[in-house]
Amino acid sequence: MDCLFCKMVNRDIEPDIVYEDDHVLAFNDINPQAPTHVLIIPKKHIATLNDIEEGDLALVGRLQHTAARLARDLDFAEDGYRVVMNCNDHGGQSVYHVHMHLMGGRRFTWPAG
Ligand code: AMP
Ligand code: ZN
Repeated sequence: MDCLFCKMVNRDIEPDIVYEDDHVLAFNDINPQAPTHVLIIPKKHIATLNDIEEGDLALVGRLQHTAARLARDLDFAEDGYRVVMNCNDHGGQSVYHVHMHLMGGRRFTWPAG
């Protein structure tokens, strides 16, 4: 499958890994928007948030739980951080394999652009 993030899961491309277990992979974003910018992905290919099914609910919970744990390990959980999942064109999605952006180390503004 011609999917950038599946290639990272399969190590056809070597990501800068922050965390890995049987179900999720977390690696540094190549174009960081914050002092820490990690992408957390399910190892299973799911193209967009619209494609999440009932059977994927635990996996989505794992993404969020991994984000919270990494925020704690990277020492910005108390200060706070931003988690983002972009969906399709208007959401700004550019890689069509579901991923969670975890950004920390600076103050974020709201509303998002
Ligand atoms: P999105 O725009 O929400 O689909 O996010 C895709 C993210 O993937 C962007 O923040 C990119 O900077 C990031 N990205 C693209 N190619 C790579 C790569 N080879 N390694 C790490 N991150 C990447
Ligand atoms: Zn994929």
